[in-house]
Amino acid sequence: CSIRVDEEHKIKLTMIGDSSVGKTCLALRFSQDLFTTDHKATITDIETRVLNIEGQDVLFQIWDTAGQERFRSLLPLYLRGIDGAVLVYDLTNPESFMNITTWINEVRKYASGNPVMALVGNKTDLNNYIFVAREDGEKLASEQGMIFMETSAKTGHNVQQAFFEVGKEVLKRK
Ligand code: GDP
Ligand code: MG
Repeated sequence: CSIRVDEEHKIKLTMIGDSSVGKTCLALRFSQDLFTTDHKATITDIETRVLNIEGQDVLFQIWDTAGQERFRSLLPLYLRGIDGAVLVYDLTNPESFMNITTWINEVRKYASGNPVMALVGNKTDLNNYIFVAREDGEKLASEQGMIFMETSAKTGHNVQQAFFEVGKEVLKRK
């Protein structure tokens, strides 16, 4: 069975951020409602899922920049023509949060038009090890005009909501 979706209802997103912050796990949680600790060998680079947003079926195409952190020369390819970028940091890793501004600049540089940007602090389930305050995430997001969400790919907390918010904003801009 295949679903025909016109361009207006197709959303291309790229997951971006430091290594190990949970980009692949978030994409898998959203697309397959799955969390596994040994996905490395089996992932594909593009995950898809149809989500109904305000009565419309929207096909999400999620490009996972697996390993590409080390190959920045490939970034332009991943960012070309995107409708949105999901910038992920690890709430237990302040360095991954500090690096977000670098990732924002990469998106602004290589994505054309006005892509929706979401800032996602992942791993809320590790509640005793959170070293990035929610307020800091919120502040950066509001300064940069980004959607903000704290998630756990492990428990599924806010994952669907994060992609839903991005999708809603993309549809508004299309
Ligand atoms: P990526 O390099 O950004 O794609 O990160 P991965 O998705 O491969 O995840 C890196 C590591 O963090 C893996 O060991 C995951 O199991 C773990 N991880 C990812 N998301 C979460 C989460 O929400 N909570 C916890 N506790 N661990 C997570
Ligand atoms: Mg990955």
